[in-house]
Amino acid sequence: MDVPSVFSILKVGIGPSSSHTLGPFLAARDFRGLIAARGFAEGQLRAVLLGSLAATGRGHLTDAAVAAGLAGYDLEHGTAKSLPAVLAEVQAAGAVHVAGLRFAFRPDEHIVFDPSARDLPHPNTLRFQLTDGNGRALYGEEYRSLGGGAVAGGTLGPGPGWGQGGFTMTEVVAACRARGIDLAGFVRENEARLGLGGDEVDRRLDLLWAAMEDAIARGLCTRGVLPGPLVLARRAPGMYEELRHRARQVLSWETAQASVYAIAVAEENAAGGRVVTAPTCGSAGVVPAALKVLQEKFDFPDARVHDALLVAGLVGLAVAKNASISGAEVGCQGEVGTASAMAAAGACYLLGGDVEDQVDRAAETALEHYLGLTCDPVYGLVQIPCIERNAAAAVAALNAASLAVLTRAEDKIKFDAVVAAMREIGRDMDRKYKETALGGLASLVGRGPVGESGASHGPSA
Ligand code: SF4
Repeated sequence: MDVPSVFSILKVGIGPSSSHTLGPFLAARDFRGLIAARGFAEGQLRAVLLGSLAATGRGHLTDAAVAAGLAGYDLEHGTAKSLPAVLAEVQAAGAVHVAGLRFAFRPDEHIVFDPSARDLPHPNTLRFQLTDGNGRALYGEEYRSLGGGAVAGGTLGPGPGWGQGGFTMTEVVAACRARGIDLAGFVRENEARLGLGGDEVDRRLDLLWAAMEDAIARGLCTRGVLPGPLVLARRAPGMYEELRHRARQVLSWETAQASVYAIAVAEENAAGGRVVTAPTCGSAGVVPAALKVLQEKFDFPDARVHDALLVAGLVGLAVAKNASISGAEVGCQGEVGTASAMAAAGACYLLGGDVEDQVDRAAETALEHYLGLTCDPVYGLVQIPCIERNAAAAVAALNAASLAVLTRAEDKIKFDAVVAAMREIGRDMDRKYKETALGGLASLVGRGPVGESGASHGPSA
């Protein structure tokens, strides 16, 4: 079985999008390193964003992420500056410095959005070029942002093999049964096989869970308006206050609380904040919201939540390897749908679900009801429908987990079959529903991506 590291899917990222922000940032940073490694002393840098990156890149801050990567910012570990501030700074400087040498680069001129290209190696393709003073090409690289912050190209190689198969959950469950271990134990063994000791696994889980909790906490206390033409007010702090004062007016405190937590993280993500890809930035609120609510209700120690994260990550890996976690490839079923399945599996594990059937059942139940879900973000922003969609998926995950632990019957459909269906549906889905902001809600409300005719002047509804 070819099971990649769980930390290839769960990692600290910057919002608003793992494929359109984090991935391009990592690609740009890699190209910057190559410029230095190859000893270029001067020239002009250029980036070309293609496919979905061109269609929704402005709303997803792809240009700012590219500028930050080329300029050498360390966004993963936090920077005091927001992405728009970084973009403005690079624009004003008209250059970036690599190994102390100046390379001309003005984002508004040297980042090109080209949605017309067809037959791309991936819907999220981007190219970097270094030219001399006469516009002659000196060096170039092509990258593919595969989803969840995974990138192929340059020194990053072919990436983690998303979409290429390698293992199924049925095989994993059989291996667990044969070895008498549970799913978290399976992931720990796999990490050891990949060279990661138990202490390092625990250290990373500690950081990830802390980053998830931190994103919830920041989202619950940060007010104001989200960036972009929607001028959308952040509402998690107000909802949190209301919930504490009106507990009797909600049908279920746990589901209301999970919704507020998910919205808190999703708003942080939309603001370009630090979140954990689970499996992506756009869907980053689902897993922490579901697990945090269960931890608070049942007082689970962090160590047990860490194991639930391993289970959730394993489910995300199964989707990434056998279908896709990229909205540009399969629509939102691959992002929020996968997040809901991950959260359901993690929640079911926390609730004592057995490895034989119940965890698989929880993931299957959650994902099944997201099949066919389109990615049609208004104005190409990760705000509407994305933020509320995180809340709905967290609640769906908790429901799927409780259905799974209450059921003692043979499952007619296994999780692997739903993943295969998602792949087929994603392949057949029209391009306008795959992170291009050209169809569905985006075409009715936002009239296409930001920057297209008429779309940058504010909502029409
Ligand atoms: S609709 Fe879903 S896949 Fe598309 S940007 Fe929003 S969260 Fe991501």
